[in-house]
Amino acid sequence: MAVSGACHCGDTAFAIDADIPQELTRCTCSFCAKRGALWAYYQPAQFRLASPAVHSVTYRWRTNNVAHNFCSRCGCGTFSDSPDFQTDGTWDGVTRRIGVNAHLFDDFDAATAAVIVIDGKNLW
Ligand SMILES: [Zn+2]
Repeated sequence: MAVSGACHCGDTAFAIDADIPQELTRCTCSFCAKRGALWAYYQPAQFRLASPAVHSVTYRWRTNNVAHNFCSRCGCGTFSDSPDFQTDGTWDGVTRRIGVNAHLFDDFDAATAAVIVIDGKNLW
């Protein structure tokens, strides 16, 4: 089943060729703690931006390894392109993943979903 979603103003929309994960992820790193996103992770090929890329702005910090995107109009955090980190913080150096802010999914209440916590504060 495909998933769709959009930011608050609708300038940034996306489609995903996969289901919503059974568990969303909350990360404790300094950025995620302030943003407050609940992440749904996908393979890059499963994620498609359904709006002009120019509507997205990218924020990078520290290693610049992760592209955190947000809507240039309404400011909602939308999706992040990052290394496919394992739960111990390791990465094979190649595989990427897309973390999508599950709060933006259509017809879905992320606040009631099961959540796992990753220790980003200490891992990276
Ligand atoms: Zn927007």
